Amino acid sequence: MSIAVDAIKAAVNVKAHAPCPMCGQDGWAGGDRLTEVNAPDEPAIRALPFVCTNCGFVRLHAVQPLETIDD
Ligand SMILES: [Zn+2]
Repeated sequence: MSIAVDAIKAAVNVKAHAPCPMCGQDGWAGGDRLTEVNAPDEPAIRALPFVCTNCGFVRLHAVQPLETIDD
């Protein structure tokens, strides 16, 4: 895995900046590690998790679409 996680994290923070859908707060931690979402007989989805610092709600952003965004 040779993904520029910092660049992806920055893209998520800029392009997908929004308050938490559960509690309405706007503080997110994480986004500095990759994880994978797996389903049987399907390719894994590489994703960045972010955690709401107020209520703990976890959101996941798939990495692949972000890599193909043109600025
Ligand atoms: Zn929250």
